[in-house]
Amino acid sequence: MQAVDQMICEVCMFNEHCYMGMCIANKEWQEEMRKTLFEVARGTVK
Ligand SMILES: [Zn+2]
Repeated sequence: MQAVDQMICEVCMFNEHCYMGMCIANKEWQEEMRKTLFEVARGTVK
């Protein structure tokens, strides 16, 4: 899901250094954030 990756990068600490679809943030951090964003998108987290 491309939109989620963009959202992840918008909140990542390097977003001034990342390009669309190529986030330089820590992979583990990205995975955690992806899980969180999917849960938010599904409405399981308020
Ligand atoms: Zn990024």
